[in-house]
Amino acid sequence: MAFKYSSKINKMRTFALALVFIGIIIMYGGIFFQTSPLLMTVFMVLGFLCIIISTIVYFWVGMISTKTIQVVCPSCGRSTKMLGRVDACMYCNEPLTLDKELEGKEFDLKYNRKQ
Ligand SMILES: [Zn+2]
Repeated sequence: MAFKYSSKINKMRTFALALVFIGIIIMYGGIFFQTSPLLMTVFMVLGFLCIIISTIVYFWVGMISTKTIQVVCPSCGRSTKMLGRVDACMYCNEPLTLDKELEGKEFDLKYNRKQ
């Protein structure tokens, strides 16, 4: 398969996790500017902001998770959370949809990409 699907919730979690690491790296980068207290403070604040944003994203994902529809994945048989009308399985990335018409459209798009 040329086009890989990923669950929206999984994507947001990955983004939040990446932000934590970016924040730590930025804060670590501040150490190299010890001669300039102003630059060091800017780096520390930026790094701290990244970690705060990531916490907000995590919290937001948690809020969204309560609004998702639980479905049993036809591919791996595990119950996964769906966000919106089209989403992917959280475990095997199988594309899922609640709308039969949308399913057809999604497959058409995929064939177009292949050609
Ligand atoms: Zn699955």
